Amino acid sequence: MSIATASTTPAPRLPRERSDLVVVGAGIVGLAHAVEAVRRGLSVTVVERDRQPVGASVRNFGHCCITAQRGELLDLAVRSRTGWLDAASRAGLWAPEAGALVVARSATELAVLEELREERGADAVRMRTRDEVGDALGRPADERGDLVGGALLPADLRVNPREAAPRLAAWLARQPGVHIAWGTNVTGVESGTVHTARGPVHGDQVLLCVGHDLDRLYPDEAEAHGIERCRLSMARVEAPPAFRTDSAVLTATSMLRYDGFTAMPSAGALRSEVTGHSEELLAIGANVMFTRLPDGTVLVGDSHAYDVTEIPFQDEATTALLLREAARVLGVREVKVTERWQGVYASSARGPLLVRDVAPGVRALSVTSGIGMTLSFGLAAATFEGALPVSA
Ligand SMILES: Cc1cc2nc3c(=O)[nH]c(=O)nc-3n(C[C@H](O)[C@H](O)[C@H](O)COP(=O)(O)OP(=O)(O)OC[C@H]3O[C@@H](n4cnc5c(N)ncnc54)[C@H](O)[C@@H]3O)c2cc1C
Repeated sequence: MSIATASTTPAPRLPRERSDLVVVGAGIVGLAHAVEAVRRGLSVTVVERDRQPVGASVRNFGHCCITAQRGELLDLAVRSRTGWLDAASRAGLWAPEAGALVVARSATELAVLEELREERGADAVRMRTRDEVGDALGRPADERGDLVGGALLPADLRVNPREAAPRLAAWLARQPGVHIAWGTNVTGVESGTVHTARGPVHGDQVLLCVGHDLDRLYPDEAEAHGIERCRLSMARVEAPPAFRTDSAVLTATSMLRYDGFTAMPSAGALRSEVTGHSEELLAIGANVMFTRLPDGTVLVGDSHAYDVTEIPFQDEATTALLLREAARVLGVREVKVTERWQGVYASSARGPLLVRDVAPGVRALSVTSGIGMTLSFGLAAATFEGALPVSA
């Protein structure tokens, strides 16, 4: 796996001066907060245990999945979109406004999309014909028999997960008043002081953005919110030659996972239909989707398995199932895998966010559903406006 700053990460060094804000964790949630802090003229120290970002934020699809959210999460996601575009232009990130293409391969799938268009309007959900979907997927005109149509969700954004967090960190490090302490494990936190294996770091406010590893620092808070580790099988494959879209490509199993779709009247019928023809995909918690990276390779995933402790073993049958289904959607016999990995993110059945003040001036913030890329900049804006609901 190549990540932009791999060879350029500076040697660990702790700042002597006190910062306005100390952020623990250089994943996208922590970095988005650091960017927002800089925008507001605050001094920031980011403390990260690894020498470069290697958590959930570099292992995902790079899909800011805006339209498929609902309610407060939709508001945060829309807000986040603006923050992403602003950060992208400042830090020089690849962030095409390419939207997401939802492929429909049955009348029921199409019905869910049409219902979403009714609710959100024809600009937000642009229906696509079979041939428009076939063209976007690069499938030959005579091999589109399984396609029914689809919808483009133009508000969705794409970023490159391999570069977004490293480049944001590199940009932050060049800003006055910002310090990034890589390779520095945080061992404990109290008001005004973050204790690390290299010594203390001082700040007026502390924000813990450690994702699923909150249980290492605050086990009671993590347990109270029911935080588990969700493991996902991912692969990078060579793209079929005619597949060129930068839109994220979603399928029926994606529609079963996002609230925007599951609230539609036909969602129940869709679940029964998918259970009927692809029960094995539901058994692995599949969300069959893919995104193309700027170099033309394609990220394919994913499955979902939940446990408090992350089990290291990846079942080959799970990946094979996902790859077979992705190949079907792409209209090719098979896809050639160039990399595989396991992604891990924080998950909770009790809610999509953990926002808790664990000590005066110390806040823990973990996204406990698989949409941290989508929400990151919206959360950062809401944090500084005091607009995030904090659990007691
Ligand atoms: C395979 C996969 C696909 C996904 N797809 C999408 C998607 O398409 N769209 C979307 O919106 N979201 C997606 N997600 C979810 C998204 O990636 C996460 O919600 C998001 O990256 C969480 O960001 P984070 O900063 O909280 O966590 P992380 O990126 O995991 O960062 C946490 C950081 O904290 C550091 N840390 C932890 N403990 C300490 C400590 N004690 N001291 C110092 N540092 C510490 C870690 O090293 C890490 O760098 C996906 C996730 C995965 C795994």
